[in-house]
Amino acid sequence: MTINKTQVISMSTNHAPGQAVASTSAQPSATSPPVTQDLPDLLAAGWCKCWSRREKRPYYFNRFTNQSLWEVPTTVQHDSISDPLGLNAAPVGSPRTTDDSAPRKRSSTEEPTAGLKRGRSEDVTPITPVTPAPRICKVTTEAPFASPTSKHKAPLVAFPVFWNLEVPSNVVAREMPPYLLFPPHPEAELCRAQLTARLRQHYQELCQQREGIDAPRESFNRWMLERKVRDRGTDPMLPSDCEPAVSPSMFREILNDIPIRLSRIKHREDAKRQLFKYAEAAKRMIESRNATPDSRKIVKWNVEDTFNWLRKELSATKEDYLERLDHLRQQCGPHLADVAKESVEGICAKLYHLACEYAQRVRSRHLEILRECNLPPDEVDSVTTSCMEERAVPCHPARLRLPEAPLPRVDLHVESEQACLRHRGEVVRVNQNYLAKLEQLYRLNCTDDSRFEKFLPRVWCMLRRYQTMFGLGAHEGLGLHGALPVSVFEALHRHFDVTFECFASPLNCYFAQYCSAFPDTDGYFGSRGTVLDLFPASGSFEVNPPFGEELMNSMVDHFENLLAASTEPLSFVVFVPEWRDPATPALLRMEESCFKRRQLLVLPFEHEYRHGAQHVCRSEELHIRALHGTAILFLQNDAAYARWGPTPERIRALLEAYRPQGRAPQPAGPADGTAGGDEAGGEESTAPSSAGGTTGSIETGGKLSERKESSDDEWV
Ligand code: SAH
Repeated sequence: MTINKTQVISMSTNHAPGQAVASTSAQPSATSPPVTQDLPDLLAAGWCKCWSRREKRPYYFNRFTNQSLWEVPTTVQHDSISDPLGLNAAPVGSPRTTDDSAPRKRSSTEEPTAGLKRGRSEDVTPITPVTPAPRICKVTTEAPFASPTSKHKAPLVAFPVFWNLEVPSNVVAREMPPYLLFPPHPEAELCRAQLTARLRQHYQELCQQREGIDAPRESFNRWMLERKVRDRGTDPMLPSDCEPAVSPSMFREILNDIPIRLSRIKHREDAKRQLFKYAEAAKRMIESRNATPDSRKIVKWNVEDTFNWLRKELSATKEDYLERLDHLRQQCGPHLADVAKESVEGICAKLYHLACEYAQRVRSRHLEILRECNLPPDEVDSVTTSCMEERAVPCHPARLRLPEAPLPRVDLHVESEQACLRHRGEVVRVNQNYLAKLEQLYRLNCTDDSRFEKFLPRVWCMLRRYQTMFGLGAHEGLGLHGALPVSVFEALHRHFDVTFECFASPLNCYFAQYCSAFPDTDGYFGSRGTVLDLFPASGSFEVNPPFGEELMNSMVDHFENLLAASTEPLSFVVFVPEWRDPATPALLRMEESCFKRRQLLVLPFEHEYRHGAQHVCRSEELHIRALHGTAILFLQNDAAYARWGPTPERIRALLEAYRPQGRAPQPAGPADGTAGGDEAGGEESTAPSSAGGTTGSIETGGKLSERKESSDDEWV
């Protein structure tokens, strides 16, 4: 399904069950009975009356929200208490049961859809549209937050949406104790952001001064992901209590760029230049460092040999140069690594200790804020972690144990269709439809702010956190939070009953229930905490982790333990890059898992991801062709296999949903560090190490080839 503005605007009000409403020309189906009657009062709100052939009775369909009801929808006025921003004014005219007017409660997404709402086709009702429409929501174009109770009548604008927050969760998990974290505060968040920027700067300087290289792109971001797998410290983002101090992921990535960072080579001249640069840098390094005589001799001999070859072989091809470069790396690499080892370890340790110090400073800032508001900071020390409960409950949003200081004002204004949230001159941006999504998530999940007085400061903190985490550089961090296409989520839900994302953020989640990196900022928007803290007994999960080796490894451990422990249906459909050179340990382990029921591979360039910064990017940038293959693995216990097993029909439907939907491919350009262009040389990097994430935007025919590899593994 392609979701773009043209489609949204050209959607017809006529629509029959089973008909793809997404069609740009969306005419009434020739085979379906005509819409029996338009409802003048509700038409403007997107409702029309349709005829169900299967049930032989009319139903009501909302083309804005894709909702279908058997009963006549009722119109309600905009409720400025529950929707103070008016961002969700879209469902003006959308049905609300009487319950909806009662104070909002958190559990709405966890409970089975009640009353009139039509559930999944296998569930209560027999008919749901086969291809869901591109959904749109309406958001106000003015900043109405000054007074949450004021009745404002803002104009409505339609935007596409890329989520379905109405899917109820089927996850039952061990009850999660509240996190021992401070509730977010813009002042403390600003402090964290500034210190993290300083940390990034230190890292760059250390790499420059000690190794003469730029800090490997994305390695700082992957370092934070890796550290947080082990960290038991007090800060939700900065590592401050983890072993060992030398991060394996950072160490690996720096060594990989020594003596120079190799870039993806497009032309013969690039290959020649790169070979020459590598040889020169290797020579310089071995001469200036404290190497053993043997190492020095071997490296120098190989470098001289390369120079001679370069002088002689004037007609060498690109492949010849690449082969020679590979040989030189193999010969010199281990000796250069030996020489650099101690100093690289020094960089990693220094950075970790600085992070510990900065985490402490952020904590002090939090305590200071509490003191300024006359809240006794001593209380913080008396709060201790509570034990994990053994009780199994429907999964619920993450909660926090530490006291919250009053939040300062954050202003909202709209600029070029983006919502801008300003705190003390610091602006964070988000596309308006995503702000509407956040409001919806907040309404579903937040229990302590029915008047939405803290909504904007909390959104500000969450956006600032993700900016701080993934970096501010162009294209930075994108490979760490690229999302599966909407059509794939739809297929996962429809055919495998998936209702939960194990790796997400309030910005990129498709479902209203998900795990995320930051329980403190994200819990108000539905996060169930970090995935390694979630202990589900049953449920069907989608899993698209950030491509960091340590996190993926811990994830596999976690899933294996959960699957072994439960006799209830528990299923994980995992999507990871098909990296074989070297092979990702997590992928190898899942391939060998006794819970693996099936494995598929979607080929490189023949599928897409959604942009990591989907909440701020332009719609034409949204879909990015993948440079790597994606392995899909079904990890299921017996009960889940019986219920949601990967049958041929389900697999076919999933793969069909993966087919790029006829979008014009993006112009070639970097998606993240590992696939990204080298700013200086305009080259792309070499194939990523297994620690690196890549999504790309390269034009191909976009057809899925069908090639059978073995009885167990399929190629598509
Ligand atoms: N939800 C989308 C995008 C996933 S990208 C999808 O499933 O296709 C990976 C996401 O995992 C990022 O948003 C990142 O912030 C989040 N993440 C990082 N560490 C995490 C952790 N420990 N637990 C849960 N989510 C995490």
